[in-house]
Amino acid sequence: MAKPSSTLRARLGSSLGLLVVALLVVGIFVARGQRDEAKVVPYSELVTAIDEGRAKEVTLGATEIQAKLAGKDGKADETIVVVRIPEMDERPLLDAMLKARGVSVSGKHEERGFFTTALLGVLPFIVIPLLFLGLSTFAARGQGKAMTFGKSRAKIYDQSPENVTRFSDVAGIDEAKAELTEVVKFLKEPAKYRAVGARVPKGVLLVGAPGTGKTLLAKAVAGESGVPFFSMSGSEFVEMFVGVGASRVRDLFEQAKSHAPCIVFIDELDAIGKARSGAQGFAANEEREQTLNQLLVEMDGFDSGSGLVMMAATNRPEILDRALSRAGRFDRQVLVDRPDVRGREAILKVHAKKVQLGVDVDLTHVAQRTPGMVGADLANVVNEAALASVRREAAIVEAQDFEEAIDRLQLGLKKGGRVMTDDEKRRVAFHESGHALVALSMKHADPVHRVTIIPRSIGALGATLQLPTEERYLVTREELLDRICTLLGGRAAEEVACEDVSTGAEDDLARATELSRLMVSRFGMSEALGPAATSRSADDAPAWMGRADGPSEATRQLVDTEIRAILDRELARARDVLSRERAKLDAIASALLERETLQRGELEALVAAPPAPPAPTSAT
Ligand code: ADP
Ligand code: ZN
Repeated sequence: MAKPSSTLRARLGSSLGLLVVALLVVGIFVARGQRDEAKVVPYSELVTAIDEGRAKEVTLGATEIQAKLAGKDGKADETIVVVRIPEMDERPLLDAMLKARGVSVSGKHEERGFFTTALLGVLPFIVIPLLFLGLSTFAARGQGKAMTFGKSRAKIYDQSPENVTRFSDVAGIDEAKAELTEVVKFLKEPAKYRAVGARVPKGVLLVGAPGTGKTLLAKAVAGESGVPFFSMSGSEFVEMFVGVGASRVRDLFEQAKSHAPCIVFIDELDAIGKARSGAQGFAANEEREQTLNQLLVEMDGFDSGSGLVMMAATNRPEILDRALSRAGRFDRQVLVDRPDVRGREAILKVHAKKVQLGVDVDLTHVAQRTPGMVGADLANVVNEAALASVRREAAIVEAQDFEEAIDRLQLGLKKGGRVMTDDEKRRVAFHESGHALVALSMKHADPVHRVTIIPRSIGALGATLQLPTEERYLVTREELLDRICTLLGGRAAEEVACEDVSTGAEDDLARATELSRLMVSRFGMSEALGPAATSRSADDAPAWMGRADGPSEATRQLVDTEIRAILDRELARARDVLSRERAKLDAIASALLERETLQRGELEALVAAPPAPPAPTSAT
């Protein structure tokens, strides 16, 4: 993979430039460090100090005067530095004062500081050999030889029976686990898959918030399949030196291929996989793009039958380069969600196995007290509780230790804004119930698969997951209206059940507005504009068309009015449904507050339940 030498040299130049700058910065800091222990003060302060008799020793330099002072009020001695005032000969004044006080005076010749001088003297001798070293290493790489700092540094995990991670170590994220069982099957018997020519997953992208167990899950896949696990973090690829990342990628795959079947796991994929900007700019960008390109090349290069499976994790899938998710690359995405109350209990159980639990510990209760926490937080809860019991000098972990641990950790999480207050929880519960109930009441809305108030890894706070019943090519006007109505159901529920509305509906409103805009301006579904398509999608309108071809001002105003009318109408419709079904709305919301997640069956049972009998009243 020899590169043309001119670009090599250019890259080398920029890398060495960086190196020199780095050395200089270090030098300046070292030189300053020399001075830092002495405080620079105004001249007058020195005079006062001598006058007060605090000066012990004074050193006169060419540009500055250093004085060692006895500390005031019993404090430790301090050293001060005064910058000499060039135009004023202060020597006679100082002399007189110092003599009067009997302070020892000495002179100082070297003002620059030993270290700075030394550094300046030595710098060329450091830089020049490095230059040669750099040149020869780059040249060596050009000839295809390995370069030490381009080695992948991948961690290979010990797969000895007592250290191996199994699926049973991963709890609370069952859906993600289920999706990965096929990968395990494939890794166990790649030959079988190859024989029937089945297309097997090449790359699996785990998407979810930090600490939800993505790394753990990937390790478990390797553990269950009994194959080696190579792991590296995206940020480890990208360093200051251009070309190192790409070379590390190459090296990683070389190692992995010789160990197949195996798993290559890249944590923080976004560190290299950020969408390419196109613009040539910072060296760091160029470096990242080269690394990403190399990763794409390697992924395309191995064939899926080889037994190599790529896994990667990210919590920001939206910023990834599209090229990464193409077929034959990370074409399978697995969502690793924050656990709900049942999931949290399961995770707590896994981690509690490692400690001695007292009989009074109720992990269900602990799970209820820790909404919003992810697997890593819960592992932490158990650990903190164990530590608390040690502090009590007790042998077993009791409920009080868990209480202490939760309080301690929640404080930290609250600061990071990751734990909902009770008020927020109630609001989110009503908001999500609103979406769900409206969806259930609409003739054309997709069925509600699940409702949850657990903050999702991505996007909105809670989420009502609707699955389309069938793949659709055409969508009718009424279906679109029902969709908009469902989107507005969250806001409507807040209006109906909470005092005020909140920012929680932002995403819903944006999507509802976008749908209405499409209806009005592209699908010809508004009465006022008729079948006129006043806008095209941004993608298929060539740039040269510009504004000249766009709709007139009057038309655009009409479009806006029509969008507004649709949104107003649908919000009113949602509000209407919810006020009429207030009892059901309350029932869903309180079930959500208690259980956090409702599956389709549970939700339908709540809605189907006969209306509660009217409260008994005295009137007949
Ligand atoms: P991520 O890669 O998503 O940031 P990790 O896999 O590194 O999260 O999780 C860190 C630690 O938290 C794990 O080693 C494990 O101890 C604990 N943990 C996280 N999720 C789970 C889970 N679902 N089940 C059990 N333990 C978990
Ligand atoms: Zn919503």
